[in-house]
Amino acid sequence: MTRTAWLNGAFLPLADARVSIMDRGFTFADGIYEVTAIIDGRLVDSAPHLARLERSAAALGIPLPLSLAEIESIERELIARDGVKEGTVYLQLTAGAAERDFLGRPDHPTFVMFTQPAPVLDNPKALTGIKVATTPDIRWANRDIKSIMLLAQVLAKREAAAKGAQEAWMIEDGFVTEGASSTAMIVTAEGILVTRPNGRDILPGCTRAAVEALARQDGVRIEERRFTIAEALSAREAMLTSASTFVLPVIAIDDTPVADGRPGPITQRLRQLYIEAARAA
Ligand code: PLP
Repeated sequence: MTRTAWLNGAFLPLADARVSIMDRGFTFADGIYEVTAIIDGRLVDSAPHLARLERSAAALGIPLPLSLAEIESIERELIARDGVKEGTVYLQLTAGAAERDFLGRPDHPTFVMFTQPAPVLDNPKALTGIKVATTPDIRWANRDIKSIMLLAQVLAKREAAAKGAQEAWMIEDGFVTEGASSTAMIVTAEGILVTRPNGRDILPGCTRAAVEALARQDGVRIEERRFTIAEALSAREAMLTSASTFVLPVIAIDDTPVADGRPGPITQRLRQLYIEAARAA
């Protein structure tokens, strides 16, 4: 299978794509990224991901070298060149290469895009559900920026994996902030979908926004408020959302089952609605 990268204006074999060791992304994590799903060879929720890319870039003061429409057409070209039917496209924009200096502001950002094929529709975890493990949220204060500074999430996921879990739910001041790479949600005994309000303490998930809209249309009541692990363990269902996983059931937290320890019907329905909406768009 061909794998193509787009790097600063050129399409080239992924294995040949090279970035300077002086790149501020490498030396300072001075950069941002996006991940957008591909279904049926088409981008899912492309507009909100591009809007978030633009916001994240502006927050770090990195000029976007292309218009959003130009970026989207490169994503489409990569999907076509690599023949990807299902998976994700990854975009990363960094401040670029310069002499190592905290205050440096190079003129030329580094912009790279590539696809990652994956069976996102027939994800076995959608049927089995996943376990999450709790970890303290040790990240910085501006989590609404989709920064490439992901070490806290790498450590959280590593800790979760060592405990036999597939995602970490990060805890701050006794409340769940979010998953290491996903939005956390529960369905209360009364059938209310609860998720933390957007703010600087979490990444505003694009999938979450779409799922909330679909849930509302489907008659599900939504409360945007913080919740604790105790509340999640007394919930009827728990789930997570993200671009690469859509909606996945969470069946246990720190090895304690959520409800009967099986994927819940509202979670499964929201996954189905999300996929149908993505395919129909
Ligand atoms: N929260 C964090 C920390 C993430 O890294 C992600 C996705 O990577 C999400 C939430 C979900 O966001 P989205 O639905 O836009 O993929």
